[in-house]
Amino acid sequence: MSDKISKEVLTEWLEIVRPFAHDGHVADYIPALAKKHPEDLAVAIHYHDGTTVSEGRDEDCFTLQSISKVIALALALMDNGEDYVFERVGMEPSGDPFHSIYRLEQHNPSKPLNPMINAGALAVTNMIHGVTPDEKVGRLLSFIHEMTDDHSIRHSEEVASSEFETAFLNRALLYYMKQHQVVDGSVEETLDAYTKQCAIEVNVKQLARIGALFANEGRDLDSNRQIISKHFARICKTFMVTCGMYDASGAFAIKVGIPAKSGVSGAVVGSLNKFGGIAVYGPALDEKGNSVVGLKLLEMMSNRYDLSIF
Ligand code: GLN
Repeated sequence: MSDKISKEVLTEWLEIVRPFAHDGHVADYIPALAKKHPEDLAVAIHYHDGTTVSEGRDEDCFTLQSISKVIALALALMDNGEDYVFERVGMEPSGDPFHSIYRLEQHNPSKPLNPMINAGALAVTNMIHGVTPDEKVGRLLSFIHEMTDDHSIRHSEEVASSEFETAFLNRALLYYMKQHQVVDGSVEETLDAYTKQCAIEVNVKQLARIGALFANEGRDLDSNRQIISKHFARICKTFMVTCGMYDASGAFAIKVGIPAKSGVSGAVVGSLNKFGGIAVYGPALDEKGNSVVGLKLLEMMSNRYDLSIF
C-alpha cells in the first residue's frame, strides 16, 4: 500500500484547491442543487486497514446523484444476474454527455451503451426488484446501510421531487426505452425510483467507506462480510474506469488513474484496491459535470502518492 495521506496534508491541499471552486458552476438544472455553496469542500479517505482521515465539511450531506448508478448496478446484478442485466444494457463507453439520447437510436434493437449514462442507469433502476418505487428505493437504502453500517442514511425528498418535476430528458429516455422494450412497467414509477435513488444523502466519510468496500472486493472492512461478490465489485470498478467520469473518463484515466464515479452534486468517489476509498466533495462543476475541485484534488493525490492503477 502507498503511504497514508495525513490530515495536515489534506488541510493544506483543500486550501490550495479552494480558489478553483470558482472556475466551475453549481448544477442548477435540478433546482434544489443550485442552493449549494461552491466553497463548501470536503474530503475523506477510508483506508484498506479500516482507518480513516477526513477534512473540511466532512459531516455535511450531499446527494449521490450519478454515484448511485454504481451502487444500483451492484444491486441489479445481485437481483437479476449478469446475463439478464447485460442483455438490456451494454458495456461500452459512450463518449457522449451523460444525458444524451441520440445513441439509443443507433443500436438495433435499442440498448443503452452502459449503466453509467442516464439511459443505462434508468434501465438498471427499472430492473431492481421491488413492486413499488418505494420498495426499490427501500432495498437500495438497505443495501447502502449494510455497506456503510449506518442505518440513518435516507434520501432527500426535496431534491428528489425537485428533480422529478423537471426531469423531462430522463422522461424522454424512459419513454423511448419503453417503446423499444428496454424497460417495462410505468415510466413515472421508474422515474420516481430513479430520482429518489439519486437523492440519497451521504457525507464524505460514508462515501469513502462505500469506495473502500468496492476496493476491498466487495467485503466489509470491519466485519469481513462479503456484501457484493468479488466479480460484481470488479464489474462496477471497471465501469468506473471506462465510464465513471462521463465523457471525460479517458482524460481522467490518464491524469489520475483511479477508478472513480462522479455525480452532479459535486461528489466523486474513488476506489483503489489495496489502498481504500476516497471521497471528495466540491459542488462547482466543469462543463462535463465533474467537480472541478474534486478533479484537482484527486489529481494531486494521485501524482504525489503514485496512486494510478496504470
Ligand atoms: N439525477 C441526475 C440526472 O439524472 C444525475 C446525473 C449526474 O449526476 N450526472 O440528471
